[in-house]
Amino acid sequence: MNANTQQTPLTWPGVCAALNDAVITCDREMRIVCANAAACALFGLHRQMLIGRAFSSLLGRSENIPLESQTHLCQACDPSACGVWRFGRAVLCAAITAAGPRPVEYTLSSVGEGDARFIIVVLRDISERIDELRNAHHEALHDALTGLPNRAYLKQRLAEAMGQGETAEALTALLFIDLDDFKDVNDTLGHDVGDELLCQIADRLSLSIRSTDFVARLGGDEFAVIVTDILNIEEAEATARRLISAITAPVRVRGLDLYVSCSIGIAYHPFNDASPEDLLRFTDIAMYRSKAAGKNTYTNFDTAFFEEIKVRKDLEHRLRQGVENDEMFFRFQPQIDLATGRVCGVEALIRWNHPQAGILAPDEFIPLAEENGLIHLLGDWVIRAACRHLKSWMAQGLEVPTLFLNVSPLQLRDPSFVEGFLQTAVDMDVPLSALGIEITESSMLHATPDMVVQLGRLRSRGVRVAIDDFGVGYSAISHLRDYSIDKIKLDRSFLEGIDSEAPPPRMARALICFVKNLGLRVTAEGVERQSQYELISAWGCDEAQGHLFGKAMSEAKLIERFLRPGCVRASASDPALPCPSGKKACAQAALS
Ligand code: C2E
Ligand code: CA
Ligand code: CA
Repeated sequence: MNANTQQTPLTWPGVCAALNDAVITCDREMRIVCANAAACALFGLHRQMLIGRAFSSLLGRSENIPLESQTHLCQACDPSACGVWRFGRAVLCAAITAAGPRPVEYTLSSVGEGDARFIIVVLRDISERIDELRNAHHEALHDALTGLPNRAYLKQRLAEAMGQGETAEALTALLFIDLDDFKDVNDTLGHDVGDELLCQIADRLSLSIRSTDFVARLGGDEFAVIVTDILNIEEAEATARRLISAITAPVRVRGLDLYVSCSIGIAYHPFNDASPEDLLRFTDIAMYRSKAAGKNTYTNFDTAFFEEIKVRKDLEHRLRQGVENDEMFFRFQPQIDLATGRVCGVEALIRWNHPQAGILAPDEFIPLAEENGLIHLLGDWVIRAACRHLKSWMAQGLEVPTLFLNVSPLQLRDPSFVEGFLQTAVDMDVPLSALGIEITESSMLHATPDMVVQLGRLRSRGVRVAIDDFGVGYSAISHLRDYSIDKIKLDRSFLEGIDSEAPPPRMARALICFVKNLGLRVTAEGVERQSQYELISAWGCDEAQGHLFGKAMSEAKLIERFLRPGCVRASASDPALPCPSGKKACAQAALS
């Protein structure tokens, strides 16, 4: 057949030739009778090679077109699949060109009737649009910061892997990885450093897995790895160990060597018969076990954890009732002024008299209260109870030292905390100078400017502010200048070994000196032995608290031993307590 467009029945060849879209005319058998220049360019074929061909032979499947579009589109473009050509609506498929398949969109229109019926096909190359679609598709399944697959993609792959696992008789392991204390990195070094760290960790994880495994970032500092086709849990555990050692090697970010660790939870399909969502939840539960076990480790999920979760849930429920039913009470511990031997403060330490479990220590319920928000209710109870005790002591004519309360960082973050604290004391007619709060060093790290102002307000009204457990974890030394505080309580870990190791560890002495140079008072916590007491006294420490002076005790015992008039000065019969004749003499006496 002659390819000269002049010989086609169409009378608008010039128009066709000028169109950017490819225009092909077919006879009613869908054989090509005419093609414009854009059509020749699209297929990379001379017009002569197009004319006479079945149009369907130019079409195929495209790797580039999203699956969802392809199935119905390929059917639409393949008459053998659906029997008819689809007219009117645009159809997406691949054009088989000399350079390979290219995504196109085409529409079919019919002109004329009977033998003079022709089909006009207008095709448009949609590579760019497909690229955009693919980018959007990629973005929907990947994390923007690290470029790793995201949670949605992980779930998709997990469902696939679990489906395959069913037939393959192999195990699929899901590892949930949570970086330890990552928040501190963000808070101390800034989010840019945190982001860079996450990117490097993402690269390390990607490099530490087999090519058949799959790593995703679930958000924040959480990652997950799918390990497929393993025969036993040891293989998954080996992966966990590999990931831990990859993460714990120092990460260099902006000239700083950062030391990160992670906690991992592992669950298995089909051992832990579960849906992908449940499997993810199981790994999360197991990961928390790793955290509780001291972090930087992995834990396999065990269904026994459910029982513990139930116990926890019950405890959570009981805790609210416990606060409401006044099942909480205080034990007290004196803080001794080393220069005078006087009790200069008392710390209130909460206990819970659980109706079934007996007396619970704060470590057994404070973290839970912090997790579920009950800490605010509990905190209110603490303030009111402290005021009740102070009022009662004043009414009994006792020598009343400052009563220090422990305040959770979460309470401090509550903008109404300071106002509530002051109001309670005023309402209960307790002088604010009789109250003090102990806040942990880590609270300072997460302080907002408003928190600093609020604490300043508390202190300006006479409430003492002490920094608790100082020196452990991330150092908050640079934050000290922002805060208005009275004293610093040196964490008891610094006292370990000061009296038994040779040479004695120097840190406690250096810290005491440091705090005093800042013009603040320093309290040594956890003083258990006379020898420790003697050393800290000689080093100029202001106050001490610990078993040497008394374990956490009942109110009656506190009054009996420390608050009764006449016994405010440490009793002479107690060998642990310093002489009352001034600090220098005390220090000398302690050392002699
Ligand atoms: P903390 O504020 O550091 O309290 C000191 C803890 O060390 C107390 O444990 C105390 O009994 C113990 N201790 C004191 N002297 C010595 C010693 O010489 N040797 C040893 N080995 N231990 C000593 P406790 O009462 O179990 O309190 C644990 C933690 O619970 C407290 O640590 C505090 O962070 C928290 N806590 C206690 N009461 C409250 C409260 O009312 N509210 C909040 N938010 N937290 C509280
Ligand atoms: Ca404390
Ligand atoms: Ca402490």
